[in-house]
This record gives sequence, C-alpha cells and structure tokens, in this order.
Amino acid sequence: MSAGAATPDYDAIVVGGGVVGAAAALGLKQAGRRVLLAEARAPKPWEANQWDPRVYALSPASIASLSALGVWADVPRPQAFTAMRVWDRASALDWSADDLGVPALGQIVEDAALLHALWPQVETITRCPASLSSFEAADDHVAVTIDGETLRSRLLIAADGAQSPIRKQLGIAVSSKPYPARAVVAHLHCVAGHADTAWQRFAPPGPIGVLPLSDGRVSVVWSLDAPDDARVLGLDDDGFCNELCAALDGQLGHLSDPSPRLSFPLRLQHAAQYTHGRVALVGDAAHSLHPLAGQGLNLGLADVQALLDAAAGADDLGAPQVMARYARSKRAANARMLALTDALYRLFGARDPLRAGLRAWGLNTLNGLPVVKAQLAAQALGITRQ
Ligand SMILES: Cc1cc2nc3c(=O)[nH]c(=O)nc-3n(C[C@H](O)[C@H](O)[C@H](O)COP(=O)(O)OP(=O)(O)OC[C@H]3O[C@@H](n4cnc5c(N)ncnc54)[C@H](O)[C@@H]3O)c2cc1C
Repeated sequence: MSAGAATPDYDAIVVGGGVVGAAAALGLKQAGRRVLLAEARAPKPWEANQWDPRVYALSPASIASLSALGVWADVPRPQAFTAMRVWDRASALDWSADDLGVPALGQIVEDAALLHALWPQVETITRCPASLSSFEAADDHVAVTIDGETLRSRLLIAADGAQSPIRKQLGIAVSSKPYPARAVVAHLHCVAGHADTAWQRFAPPGPIGVLPLSDGRVSVVWSLDAPDDARVLGLDDDGFCNELCAALDGQLGHLSDPSPRLSFPLRLQHAAQYTHGRVALVGDAAHSLHPLAGQGLNLGLADVQALLDAAAGADDLGAPQVMARYARSKRAANARMLALTDALYRLFGARDPLRAGLRAWGLNTLNGLPVVKAQLAAQALGITRQ
C-alpha cells in the first residue's frame, strides 16, 4: 500500500528480531493483528552440536510468557535450576525451589535455542535481512521505510537492541553509565557437577555467575575490570580454569576444557521515555543492566507481555491510551530493578571494610529470615506463590 491510503498496511511493525522482538511479533500475530517483523541479520541456523556462548537464566514468569506463546516446548535443551547460592568471602545466601514451593527457580537456555523455537513461528511475517532506514510520524500512523519501501503502521515497536537506532532517531534521552568491567563468558566442564544450581560469587572487582547447562557443563559470566579482562582472555585453558576455580573459592571443584572465551561490554542504561507518539521501546532498546542479576531478557519479555496487555482489545495499537498504559506499567518497575542491580554491583564490588561488613551482615541476616528471603526471591523470579 502506498502512503496516503486510508488504512495503514499494518497494525504493528516490529524492528529487531532478537528474542524480545520475535516474541512481540508472535504475540501480536496470535492476537490476530497485521504485523511485520524486520530484522537486519538472520540468526545462525541451529546446530545441535554447537553451543551458544550467550546463555540466559529465565525466570518462571518468562517461561510462562513463552509457554503462552506456544514456543517453550520447542526450546532445545533447557536446564532447570532448583537452587541458587550467592556468596562472598564472609557470608552466603541459599535458595531452593523447595523453599519456594515451586518445581524450579528457573531455566537456563541459549539465545540460539530461543531463536530456533521462535523464528519458525514468525517466518511468514518476517523480512530478513531487512533494515529500517527511516521513519516518520503522522497523526494516525507511522510511515516506516524498510530497505527503500515505505510502509504504514499504527504502531512501531523498537526491539532494536541497546544501541537502538529508533530511540536515537527520536532523540529519547537515556541515563547511561558504562561499568568499568567487561563480562568474560565461557562454558566449562565441572568435574564435581553443577548440582542443578545457579551460583553467584560476589568478589571485588566484580561478580561471577555460574549457570548449569544440560550437558553437565557450566556457563560462566565473569565480570572483570580492565586490564584484568584482557589478561584473563589471554590465558591458556589451564591458566583460565585454575584462576576461575580459585576466584570461586574452589566451591565448584576442578574446572576444565573451557570453550573459546568471549567478552561483552557492560552498561547501565535506561530510556527516559518508553513511548514517543506511536513508537514503543521494548527490551534492551529501553533498558540494559549488569548481568549479575540475570534480568535483562526477563525484563524484555515482561515488557512484551505488558505491551500485549496494553494493546488487548484496542482498535488502534498506537493510540495514546495504549502507549500510556504500556509506559505506566513498565518504566517505574524497571527503574527499580535497574537501581537494585546497580546497588548490588556497587555494594559487592566494594573493597572497603565498612561496606564489606555491611554486606556480610545483610546476607547473613537475610539468610536467617526465611520468609523475607523467600519473598525477595519470589519477586525477583516472578513466581506467583500459592
Ligand atoms: C554477558 C551477558 C549475560 C547476560 N545474561 C542474562 C541472563 O542470564 N538473563 C537475562 O534475562 N538476560 C541476560 N543478559 C541480557 C540479555 O542478553 C539482553 O537483555 C537481551 O539479549 C536483549 O534482547 P533484545 O531482543 O532486546 O535485543 P538484541 O538481542 O540486542 O536484539 C536486537 C535485534 O535488533 C536488530 N536490529 C538492530 N537495528 C536494526 C535495524 N535498524 N533494522 C533491523 N533490525 C535491527 C539486531 O540485528 C538484533 O537482532 C545478559 C547480557 C550479557 C551481555
């Protein structure tokens, strides 16, 4: 359809086919909406003998969203974790699924596995490779130019990642703070086994997350300041395993056979607005945070659910009431999670004795308050308690 016709071509155009964008497009398609998903790069085809270094700890709330979309059953090799251990030099905190009365605290999945399950479901509404080049807002639609073709849509969903070109074009301000650390990521064998547990060692200069994989290995996210990150990336396999084992206080026993190491920059970033006219930001386009709490994708999937809820029953998906409902339901809640994650990063990264004492007291006190501890975990994991 050309610009100027009465009815827009689409109810929604989603730009960005990562997990968040693909989930948004699928949810809208299932709600009977006319939706187009545009993604610049096709995901690599799924290969069962390869493991994606990008691994997520999905909360029960995210799994419920993916189940409602009908994709969770198709996600290859998820690994449930039934316990969580958080510790530093002087204190420790443990959670178990039994304490919370749930079968698991969450599931560990690879990014490629999620895309493998999601993409076939959105194939018929996807253009790929297809890049958004520009867009222009009008009163009752957004004119979106994708690879030279201009399409009109009631709503434009920016699921285009932390560097969101859409957010930048709109001039939406972000509060943004790079962390001095980078995340070094690898999969390793763990001779003692991972005990279906997600581990988090808080140590200056930064936390180390260890997640169980379904083949018995573990996936490590090790937050390291420069120049330590570069030094650790340059270690040989034995050197890397030995240093990691020591940094984990030997709690996971001997580690071996690491995969090639990758490193990611880390940043705290929050968009000042989640909506602008008929444009809605979701996922990392709206927020990114330190991976220590494993919340980035979980927040993105919650954004999608909130947007689907806000749009339910509306004739015009980009109407001001829909946009306002979405922004109201998510921005303040996400701001709290970003602030909490940042506070944890700072508290546990501190070397001074006062804050070290404070966190030891905090962890030990919390461990002695099972009800409060369970409530905190339930909230963080999105568990609805009976
Ligand atoms: C080391 C590390 C560990 C993490 N661990 C966890 C964890 O355990 N749990 C968790 O919940 N989160 C975790 N996260 C966070 C998580 O990776 C992100 O929050 C999540 O991937 C964001 O998904 P997204 O779909 O919003 O963005 P992306 O995955 O960045 O997808 C954006 C997509 O938009 C496309 N795109 C961009 N511009 C255009 C354009 N102009 N036209 C078309 N397409 C475009 C890109 O090609 C890309 O495919 C971690 C992050 C890091 C760095």
